[in-house]
Amino acid sequence: MLDKRNFYINGKWIPPVKPNDFEVINPSNEEICATISLGNIEDTDSAIRAARYSFATWSQSSKEERISLIQKLYEIYKSRWEEMAKSISLEMGAPIDWATNVQTASGASHIKDFIKRLKNFEFERSFDNGSDNYITYEPIGVCGLITPWNWPINQITLKVVPALAAGCTMVLKPSEIAPLSGMLFAEMIHDAGFPPGVFNLVNGDGAGVGTQISGHPDVDMVSFTGSTRAGRLITKNSAETVKRVCLELGGKGGNIVFADSSPEAVREGVRNVMSNSGQSCDAPTRMLVEKSIYERAVKEAADEANKITVDIANKKGEHIGPVISKNQFDKIQNLIKSGVEEGATLVAGGPDRPEGLGRGYFVRPTIFTDVSNNMRIAKEEIFGPVLSIIPFETEDEAINITNDTSYGLGNYVQTLDKEKARRVARKFRSGGVYINGKSADSGTPFGGYRQSGNGREGGTWGLEEYLEVKTISGWK
Ligand code: NAD
Repeated sequence: MLDKRNFYINGKWIPPVKPNDFEVINPSNEEICATISLGNIEDTDSAIRAARYSFATWSQSSKEERISLIQKLYEIYKSRWEEMAKSISLEMGAPIDWATNVQTASGASHIKDFIKRLKNFEFERSFDNGSDNYITYEPIGVCGLITPWNWPINQITLKVVPALAAGCTMVLKPSEIAPLSGMLFAEMIHDAGFPPGVFNLVNGDGAGVGTQISGHPDVDMVSFTGSTRAGRLITKNSAETVKRVCLELGGKGGNIVFADSSPEAVREGVRNVMSNSGQSCDAPTRMLVEKSIYERAVKEAADEANKITVDIANKKGEHIGPVISKNQFDKIQNLIKSGVEEGATLVAGGPDRPEGLGRGYFVRPTIFTDVSNNMRIAKEEIFGPVLSIIPFETEDEAINITNDTSYGLGNYVQTLDKEKARRVARKFRSGGVYINGKSADSGTPFGGYRQSGNGREGGTWGLEEYLEVKTISGWK
């Protein structure tokens, strides 16, 4: 079992002011795999103090200095790739190949892309020709970064790297149930040689360190990824000190499959929902299928779900792993039961664990058909390997159903008619649209409409989140 009780504050690993052990559970076998500490207000204060102190010099560092340190971080990240993949696999149950090739790779791709964006970013610009006004972009200050467990290093790099690039200082609070990848990342930041106090890490839960960060008068901005529930609480708690709050919250993506889509569209849609055991905020969890191909689509979807195997995380291969925790397992089981009770038809999977997996938080890849958009399984973010299939007749009906949700993160459209695809894409009320399964390029903005959050992460948009803009008149 790993002893990970210390916090990283002001360039050193130090014990918590008061011991407060918290056990990290391996979701593949329900056994304790590490012990961390949950911080209290003294730990949070000391990390924020270090960040505030170092802001005075780090905010004045040159762009070249920051590029060079982030480049070092990138080299170190690549050299410790396997360790990162193992940490993610252990803490959140991602199968090792997925953790290596997708989860860890996402972190590397963000670091690399932010280096490129930082190189190209002009922090100082003249205003219009002939004007004596000048515009400067400056780091916003001390940032509180609160991250979830489902894509742990993806989220951490999407926040920490642009904050560093902007010249901000920060306190990271990774998810307490998947903190190991964040702690390894803190070691990498240390080894890259960032000045003490620029980056700090305090473990803790939402009610403790999370709330202390969002309410702290010396924190200028909070960037949060996680549930809409926590996003609301953070927004309220930050209001008193008028912080900038950037939120990356849940989703309930629609995936419109028209009759003229590629023959692989239904199977790809199923795999897309099930990957990462369904724990992705932009997963296409509601598949809307045109009536003329509905019967075929249902058969294909069930067949594809039945082909997906579920197994422990440290086994190589293309299976899916467990979900993160007992809480999530119970929540998913309840939602599957609610689907049956509300009259949806179960065509694959269902309640209880897959055969042969009596221990670990394993969920069967599950498909419901004949779902109507007002059932709980169509409205709530399940965050498990569960797909709801909804029939439709017209394009407008499909768009209306897709947009009829409190979320607006990622929506999908499948058709070989380019004009139709673009028409539908424009009408979706979401921060991302994926046509025919094409994924978004590195450096594009990622974020949500409505209760999926505000702000954008990634690329130049993600860098600008951490900057204030100043107008200076009379410059010349
Ligand atoms: P959560 O939102 O409670 O936790 C995510 C992070 O926020 C953790 O670091 C947690 O400690 C922190 N946190 C929780 N409450 C907080 C508060 N009041 N103030 C400050 N920080 C707080 O997520 P969860 O409870 O682990 O998962 C529940 C649901 O959240 C999931 O079923 C899923 O729907 C959603 N979720 C979404 C994402 C996403 O990427 N959009 C990620 C994780 C969870």
